Amino acid sequence: MLTRDDLAKRDQTDPLRSFRDRFDLPAGMVYLDGNSLGALPKATAARLADVVAREWGQDLITSWNKNGWYELPLVLGDKLGRLIGAAPGQVAISDSTSVNLFKVLASAIALRPGRKTIISDSGNFPTDLYMAQGLTSFLGGIDLKVVGETEVAEALNENVAAVFLTEVNYRSGRKHDMAALTQKIHAVGAIAIWDLAHSAGAFPVHLDAAGADFAVGCGYKYLNGGPGAPAFLYIAKRHQDQAMPILSGWMGHANPFAFDLDYRPANGMRRALAGTPAILSMRALEVGIDLMLEADLSALASKSAALTDIFMKLVEQECPGTFGNVTPSDSTRRGSQVCLTHHHGHAIVQALIARGVIPDFRSPDILRFGFAPLYVGFVDLWDAVQHLKAIMSGGEWRETRFAAKAAVT
Ligand SMILES: *Cc1c(COP(=O)(O)O)cnc(C)c1O
Repeated sequence: MLTRDDLAKRDQTDPLRSFRDRFDLPAGMVYLDGNSLGALPKATAARLADVVAREWGQDLITSWNKNGWYELPLVLGDKLGRLIGAAPGQVAISDSTSVNLFKVLASAIALRPGRKTIISDSGNFPTDLYMAQGLTSFLGGIDLKVVGETEVAEALNENVAAVFLTEVNYRSGRKHDMAALTQKIHAVGAIAIWDLAHSAGAFPVHLDAAGADFAVGCGYKYLNGGPGAPAFLYIAKRHQDQAMPILSGWMGHANPFAFDLDYRPANGMRRALAGTPAILSMRALEVGIDLMLEADLSALASKSAALTDIFMKLVEQECPGTFGNVTPSDSTRRGSQVCLTHHHGHAIVQALIARGVIPDFRSPDILRFGFAPLYVGFVDLWDAVQHLKAIMSGGEWRETRFAAKAAVT
């Protein structure tokens, strides 16, 4: 039997414990949705006030040079690269994850002329599939094949141009073996594209070591960059000179300020940029990334494994037989989240939110609990599960106020 005291002791020996204090979390709230919108670092407000008042207000347009705005997408990309196992010069911050996926998928297809199929799996996040549907219907002649999550390897053949997968399934938490799958994808000569939306900042990723070709990911989830923070993309060095940008905007031009009439891509990652970068948002993301870079990444991974493991144990201990659980039991095969299932999952999540415990609901029946290892503590797990227990044993979730569905779940 685990007790609240056991968990308080765990917090005392947690090497990441001091990070919680670096975030502005509302008192009394247990925030288990950092996988959807990361918490606010305390340093962000002051940094943004400075960027607005000084960099924008006083330095105005000279900031593009003076305050490093022009280089920021690549400088910040290199910092982020340290979190995802990418050597410098391979990551840019830009656009949204959806748009970046479109960009890298188009480049990948162009790198494999004559091949007519691209593959993803049914565990991918819908926007990735939607963007691929838009791209293939525009291109014509390329088929998108969506296979089951365990069927990717069998679907590979020499007609496949590219495979795009999200490493951690947003619903079940299932984690693909990136290195092994990349190797299989390469064995048929196809390109491997990884979406790290639920990976970057939750545990260390090793893009270079895995041999990934392209990757994309989110700035507002575990990286704590703020709502709608710019996303990132990775292009392995070996592809950079051949990967032609589909969104060939002036910020990716070899010499934007020559104002040539013809597009010529810049060398290296700069060609991944299209239009003028969102500087204010990028400065907020920088605070989140800088904070994460202070952490020991292996401690991040082991804390994530422990938080998810203990949460599942506590749910079974306190609410035995009440929930299904679709989370992989092997911690190396899951992300930093736990996904319980219940027929009335939506109402139960609303009841938890009313009590200050914030998970989210994913259709049709998933209660999704995300554990951002930088700021979620072990006692939080106890408190969240006690609320869950109270909601279930008293039937509180049946109250009509928990039945309504909002636009965003
Ligand atoms: C959250 C998420 C996205 C979000 O894409 P946006 O363009 O930022 O809206 C994309 N892909 C995956 C896998 C995600 O989890």
